[in-house]
Amino acid sequence: MGIHTLEDLANYFPFKHIDRSRIYYSHELTGDMPFVQLKGRILSFDEEGKGRKRRLIAHFSDDHGIVDLVWFNVQNWIQDTYKLGKEYIVFGKPNFYNGRFQISHPDIDDASALTLSTMGMQPFYSIPVKAAKRGVTSRMIERLTNTLFRQLSDRVPETLPEVIVRKQLLMSRDEAIRNMHYPANAEALSRASYRLKLEELFYIQLSILKFTADRQKAVHGIPCPRVGTMFMDFYHNQLPFTLTGAQQRVIKEMHADMKSGRQMNRLLQGDVGSGKTLVALLVMLLAIDNGLQACIMAPTEILAEQHLETFRNFLGDMPLRVELLTGMVKGKRRQTVLDGLASGEVNILVGTHAVIEDNVVFRNLGLVVIDEQHRFGVAQRARLWRKNVVPPHVLVMTATPIPRTLAMTLYGDLDVSIINELPPGRKPITTVHQYENRAVTLYQGIRQQISLGRQVYVVYPLIKESEKMDLQNLEDGYDMLCKTFPDLKISKVHGKMKAAEKDAEMQRFANGETNILVATTVIEVGVNVPNASVMVIQNAERFGLAQLHQLRGRVGRGAEQSYCILVTKFELSAETKKRIQIMTETNDGFEIAEADLKFRGPGDLEGTQQSGTAFELRVANLARDGQIVQQARDLAREVVENDPEHVVPQYSLCWSRLEQLGKDQQDWSSIS
Ligand code: ADP
Ligand code: MG
Repeated sequence: MGIHTLEDLANYFPFKHIDRSRIYYSHELTGDMPFVQLKGRILSFDEEGKGRKRRLIAHFSDDHGIVDLVWFNVQNWIQDTYKLGKEYIVFGKPNFYNGRFQISHPDIDDASALTLSTMGMQPFYSIPVKAAKRGVTSRMIERLTNTLFRQLSDRVPETLPEVIVRKQLLMSRDEAIRNMHYPANAEALSRASYRLKLEELFYIQLSILKFTADRQKAVHGIPCPRVGTMFMDFYHNQLPFTLTGAQQRVIKEMHADMKSGRQMNRLLQGDVGSGKTLVALLVMLLAIDNGLQACIMAPTEILAEQHLETFRNFLGDMPLRVELLTGMVKGKRRQTVLDGLASGEVNILVGTHAVIEDNVVFRNLGLVVIDEQHRFGVAQRARLWRKNVVPPHVLVMTATPIPRTLAMTLYGDLDVSIINELPPGRKPITTVHQYENRAVTLYQGIRQQISLGRQVYVVYPLIKESEKMDLQNLEDGYDMLCKTFPDLKISKVHGKMKAAEKDAEMQRFANGETNILVATTVIEVGVNVPNASVMVIQNAERFGLAQLHQLRGRVGRGAEQSYCILVTKFELSAETKKRIQIMTETNDGFEIAEADLKFRGPGDLEGTQQSGTAFELRVANLARDGQIVQQARDLAREVVENDPEHVVPQYSLCWSRLEQLGKDQQDWSSIS
């Protein structure tokens, strides 16, 4: 259980408490009570049932009625331990069964040993399955912590500087830890947990800000003061539309970084379709105007190829060389690209993670854009810096917005720019929930949109039928659609196809040669076909909010009214219903991201799994404790600003503690 020392034990916090200060009478019981305790005597034992249903029953009376105590695996110790006629306090969850209240596997204490005064809030510890199988119970841990805190006369050492404890009116660490296990009352418990959460988040933020400060001290950026001909020519002659105010603002923010002499490390957040790609291109042109090369990294091959095409289209006949480098680019073609990079003839490189391999050498790399869906950790970002003598500027773009508190932790070392505006003329997408037995209506809708000249996506969770999962699949769906619409042209795209085949099908759809694109989530990111106006998502209940939002973002890119149809099976959990409801109620990616975080918790958010170890928060929860994250960040900033050289005595505890934590287990530098 990871408990080796008394300190480990003290830090093994209960997951809940139950108020044991009240004793109920049996006639007060109702069916929906959580846990109650009763005081009385066992009148007799009985065995009922046979074989695996065999159970031991103790008829228990508190002079107000009879309650049955039930054990499902009959063991000798029960009758040996509990004596008839002796007074006990029995604790558990009452269930009404066969005309009587039952408590299964109750906690039983000798009434004379347990007096009301010692029975306040009882801690409940979570016990890993393996330990539970060996007979470890919450009660056993309770006995240990009880003994520990009764015998521990020394105070648990303080781990936050006194200035912070005093200014924030925090409980001392000693008081907080004791109250986490045995709170004096509900308020003390909440103050204790607040103090420990704040501390935990504070040290995460301190390590991020220290990392950032160290980097700024050690690393200078490549100065990019010039706004030159490429940027200007593109801006005035190539741009097919005017930039939104938000796009202009974020470009200014980035230019300010790039000319400052510091290295830019910036996160660009913007909703699906807000025009991040174009911003990236303009910023790359700024780098090029200053005699530098730029590169953009996409999460998938398809997306990299699409970026290549987008850029080439946008740039028209401007004298710039844009090349692609992915795992698929091999042999001579690859060598040509590599040579062009080394000689400096390639101005913009578009690629996947393949571009950070060590054998990819640039002549003068000035800017790296990471267009990402999967989080790219601080450590990986650091690897990019070595691509040039002076590290390049780094721009990270998120695929969908992420909640602020999560951004502060995942990307806490980056400055943030936000595009909070969509290009004009976009009609909000209408999102509808439909049960899967309404296929006829669905087909009518598809038919109607196609007769208007639009195109349709249909997304499936699986490629082929699966015995394990009762889900719609792409192959059957494709056959079904071909039968239903014999006159229409239908493409299919999925991850098991050869890249060339996949591209050809995508291309046919993008050119308007096919009416319907049947696909798996390979089309989730980035793909841009403005004439497509319907997104049908089969088994929408299988997808997370961020993914649904990304998929939906594939439509609504043209001037026409677009639709997203979320098709689900009939039985849905309450949580899934809520998810679908959020999708039908809002198009706002920032709102959806917040909801997603609340639902699933940060550990489940797409892409954060790989960073699980760095996020083993013991007490804080990024989903629930957003406010505390902000406070922790403010506090940490204050410390870094007041004590940049780590010499101020009142903060010395911070720095030694941070070092200790770093040594202990967490590798904060790999937070991603
Ligand atoms: P995302 O932020 O999701 O990456 P994109 O960069 O793919 O969004 O942009 C979505 C679409 O909007 C593209 O077709 C792009 O050309 C277009 N677009 C970008 N900026 C503007 C603008 N200022 N006005 C009109 N259309 C724009
Ligand atoms: Mg994009």
